[in-house]
Amino acid sequence: VSFGYENVDPVEKTRRVGAVFSNVAAKYDIMNDAMSGGMHRLWKDRFVSRVKPQPGEAILDMAGGTGDIAFRMADRGAEVVVADINQDMLDVGVERAMQRGIDGLVWSCQNAEQLTYIDKQFDAYTIAFGIRNVTHIDRALAEAYRVLKYGGRFYCLEFSTMTWPGMKEAYDFYSHRLVPQIGKIVAGDEESYRYLIESIRRFPPMPEFERMIRDAGFVRTRVEPIMGGLVAIHSGWKA
Ligand code: SAM
Repeated sequence: VSFGYENVDPVEKTRRVGAVFSNVAAKYDIMNDAMSGGMHRLWKDRFVSRVKPQPGEAILDMAGGTGDIAFRMADRGAEVVVADINQDMLDVGVERAMQRGIDGLVWSCQNAEQLTYIDKQFDAYTIAFGIRNVTHIDRALAEAYRVLKYGGRFYCLEFSTMTWPGMKEAYDFYSHRLVPQIGKIVAGDEESYRYLIESIRRFPPMPEFERMIRDAGFVRTRVEPIMGGLVAIHSGWKA
């Protein structure tokens, strides 16, 4: 499997992704604003408005990191479990929740590829900017399907493939040249951001990822490109 420009074995990939997020955890929120000019907030708002969390619904926010998606869903009354493979990211999230006076969230350290939950527990499964870091995406999708109830919804927010002519070059320049520099200046970590950008480039294009979601068993799959596919919302339904 690939880690940035290198090919590594799956265990090594999982370890290195772990190291990347441990390195960036403390500066993660500030870096999101720096790199996206604050736009990630709008993408996340739009994402959660598509998920339409209902009061009392059980939602698993996978790769939930420092809680951005979970906080928005809890705001609407959903009962959210934030699960992430990286305890350092979760620790920052718990701290943020305390500062904001948000309680009632459950924080759980686990791997998206092998969840500890029994079948058919959740009304919705969300994963934002997480799935491209997972070593075996098909296993994570199979697990999402397994833990959802019938009628449950799957929602994924992820960087995708910019399709606007002319913008692609500008975006490539920005992401490959400038983002690692921003990472160096703001977070003192160029390498982690090199990996994060390269993992975007290697992520399957929208039709292919939609097919993977269908292959996992989901029906009524949909793709909503945002900003010409810079980011995309993929969704599906467990019938
Ligand atoms: N969802 C949050 C957000 O939108 O701000 C965090 C996104 S962050 C870019 C990606 C997260 O995916 C990290 O917290 C990382 O630890 C987590 N992650 C990577 N591989 C994972 C896996 N196999 N299982 C669970 N979480 C994983």
